[in-house]
Amino acid sequence: MEPLEALREAGRIASKVRDTTLAEIEPGMKVEYICDLVNKRVDELGGRMAFPCNVDIDHVAAHYCAPINDKTVIPERSLVKLDVGVHIDGYIADTAKTVCFDTELEYLVEAAEAGLEAAIQTIRPNINANDVGAAIEEAIKRKGARPIRNLTGHKLARYVLHASGGSIPNVREFHGHTIREGDVYAIEPFAVPRTADGLVADGPPSNIYRMEKKRNVKGTAKKMQKFIQAEYKTLPFASRWVMRKFNTPEGAAAFQELLHAKSINSYPQLIERTHAKVAQAEHSVIVTEDGCEVTTA
Ligand code: MN
Ligand code: MN
Repeated sequence: MEPLEALREAGRIASKVRDTTLAEIEPGMKVEYICDLVNKRVDELGGRMAFPCNVDIDHVAAHYCAPINDKTVIPERSLVKLDVGVHIDGYIADTAKTVCFDTELEYLVEAAEAGLEAAIQTIRPNINANDVGAAIEEAIKRKGARPIRNLTGHKLARYVLHASGGSIPNVREFHGHTIREGDVYAIEPFAVPRTADGLVADGPPSNIYRMEKKRNVKGTAKKMQKFIQAEYKTLPFASRWVMRKFNTPEGAAAFQELLHAKSINSYPQLIERTHAKVAQAEHSVIVTEDGCEVTTA
């Protein structure tokens, strides 16, 4: 498949899985069930997971995914972000939407969506990424909310979820790069109430990992390391995926061994500092001659 076609196909799958799954989420539902449902649907549609599906509840802005046998359930009156990543042959689509079970917080969802829409209308070749950030900030503020300013959108490259030198800020910044035709970006505004800090801090370790470096380990750990490298390459993966493949006490010990040997590393959960509830909206776009093509619409 041509790169452009692969990006579009990944986008179609991610968008379909995001919408069908989000529509089914309700209070009381297990997060592990939601994560598994996303995996199953991506698989059925012929995609691969570009990262473990995130189910981020309330003040958790990003990076929560279910560990194996997770007991976490969707709370009443919560804001739930479903963030789905799909790749075809390494070409990535990254997209998220928020479902709100508290009518008083619906404006946060609208604010994040408005920020994303403003970014899509603004982005085009030869403008600065700062201009996109400014458009996002203004649109979110018009809805009576504020953006999280230390989370950004990011450039997508083949098998690279966060390509270097390509962030898209969610506020007006001053040191941005120039947008080029053919660039692929994930744009992702986050909205919080005006009274919140609008900053995330590192929280507890997530259940999302990445390969750090191949280490000299033996036995089950060696097998596990080989499996991770072959299966996920440079992309993030869930402990749940690996533990189902190595579902024995030796498997659990081998996973710990890889962590201690710094063969693999975990991402922290990203928590809003004032514990404000967070809404998110995200699309992946290809920059075209006069604007952009949204692959995850
Ligand atoms: Mn995402
Ligand atoms: Mn993203």
